[in-house]
Amino acid sequence: MDVIVGIDLGTTNSAIAVVRDGQPIVLRDESGQPILPSVVGLDYDGQLLVGQRARNQAILAPERTVKSIKRKMGQDVTVTMGDRQYTPQEISAIILRTLKQQAERALGHPVQKAVITVPAFFNDMQREATREAGELAGLEVVRIINEPTAASLVYEPHSERQERLLVYDLGGGTFDVSIVQIERGVIEVLSSHGDTQLGGDDFDQLLLDRVCHTFQEQQGLELRDLPRARSRLLQAVEAAKIRLSSEAVTELIEEFLAERDGAPLHLRHELARHAYEDLIRPLLDKTIRSVDAALADATLHAQDIDKIILVGGSSRTPLVQQLLEQQLAQPPHFEIDPDLCVALGAAVQGALIAGQDVGSVLVDITPHTLGIECLGPLRGMLSPHLFSPIIPRNTPLPATRSEIYHTVVDGQTAANIHVFQGEDQDARHNQPVGKFTLEGLNRKAVEGNEILVRFDLNLDGILTVAAVERATGLEQRLTIENPIQAFRAKNRAEAKAKLAAMFGPEQPLPSSAAVADLPAPTTAQDAARQAAQQLIGKARRILPSVSAEDRTEIERLLTHLDDTRVPLSVEEIQGLCSQLEDLLFYLEDA
Ligand code: AMP
Repeated sequence: MDVIVGIDLGTTNSAIAVVRDGQPIVLRDESGQPILPSVVGLDYDGQLLVGQRARNQAILAPERTVKSIKRKMGQDVTVTMGDRQYTPQEISAIILRTLKQQAERALGHPVQKAVITVPAFFNDMQREATREAGELAGLEVVRIINEPTAASLVYEPHSERQERLLVYDLGGGTFDVSIVQIERGVIEVLSSHGDTQLGGDDFDQLLLDRVCHTFQEQQGLELRDLPRARSRLLQAVEAAKIRLSSEAVTELIEEFLAERDGAPLHLRHELARHAYEDLIRPLLDKTIRSVDAALADATLHAQDIDKIILVGGSSRTPLVQQLLEQQLAQPPHFEIDPDLCVALGAAVQGALIAGQDVGSVLVDITPHTLGIECLGPLRGMLSPHLFSPIIPRNTPLPATRSEIYHTVVDGQTAANIHVFQGEDQDARHNQPVGKFTLEGLNRKAVEGNEILVRFDLNLDGILTVAAVERATGLEQRLTIENPIQAFRAKNRAEAKAKLAAMFGPEQPLPSSAAVADLPAPTTAQDAARQAAQQLIGKARRILPSVSAEDRTEIERLLTHLDDTRVPLSVEEIQGLCSQLEDLLFYLEDA
């Protein structure tokens, strides 16, 4: 069977993926990197540099380096690299050839065919130039597909019913939002909006300006006029910006950044997420206006959207997620790495063309939001029960996030950290998963003393919560073994209660005498089957009122559970019961 790889040929970064054993996977380079910076250069000796090495020399040798060539695709121009001229197709072909070689090394066989993605707004000339670049790189380009289409495919490879997805793609230099409709394998971009000059690079620039401004005030030196210091600082602010996606505060430390009168100058600058968010909010508001415009162009409303998908590195910014949720009244999905989503989707398209089976991407995520209870406005009134999310639902594991909270009175010596899981603004309606008290706070501190709360959720679902008094470093920790499981157990209990409320009390429990009359379970299997019977009864009662799709799923589980010809282990019976319980709960909840 033909292998058709999928390629995301991006403005800032590119990636290549393939479907293997039904699973889309990214093919990494020799050092394990999944992403190739879309930068090409020549070193001092005229040797070709592609990717990170070219990117490293970009600031010091711009005349020998080409970045963001995607912006020029389809134009009748050339770019200079060293002493030669290159067309945009030729530069893109160098990137594509590097990806092809990377894939061949990872797969151990030649790669000849590819699906390549382009922005939805690319015109015919730009698409043709992309195809040409692929062919120059030695690839047969079997299809060019839109980036939002690829992203949708990776989330919904087999959608039978009509679904509308909003794909919000915020990268390093560009932003676009598209509304994509999928129906029985036919995917259509209904509308697209965006800004080809808006992205993470602008956020870096805003941060750089702020840091340089403070430095100028303190040291009287303008760092932006010093190319080496500027380029070091630009990398440092980008790294700090990325840290702020998970940390509430971060510190920028750059030693020996510059000199004055022969004496070295060091930079130390603390950045808080909320201050960074204030800086970038106007730019993000612009993206939200584009979201509205895309909806209007497709003559749709927020409630017509079935799923919001995040694509592009900058969409990891928590404020992006918050603003979208506020605007569209549903949380966005980012469980599939936003940097790799488009390449993975292109691989899914390639596999579908090649006639391969494709499953969904397997990712381990937090099914519910984790956070703490704090003082704040709840339904217009100040309440001590406001739920403050720290790790939002759908976050891939492992996840680390922190937030800053403040003491509420002068001389407060302790802070209660009460951890909850759920989606309700009122913590009391969520599931408590643990609590502890940070004691011994500085008694001289006035109200507003900062307490940093960090959540660390590892791959095994173990949550470590740390609370730190920022001024003194006083710290207290709590480890919660399995918050996710605790939540599922509560769901089940609630599901049972709800079903009871809907269908009236369950069959009267046999009296103790009757219990004694029941044949005692003889084996663990029998006991498990007996326990399953009640659930089977409930499922049967609910069957007539559910959708065809849910009915098929319930019937599938019932057939397995009911079939006494096939011996099931206790674990298998319990596994089927648990699936059935979850399904019934969600049907009740819907
Ligand atoms: P892309 O063009 O999709 O590769 O996105 C690259 C942009 O995403 C750059 O501006 C990165 O600094 C930014 N980026 C990557 N990771 C994160 C993160 N965790 N939080 C915020 N921005 C990020």
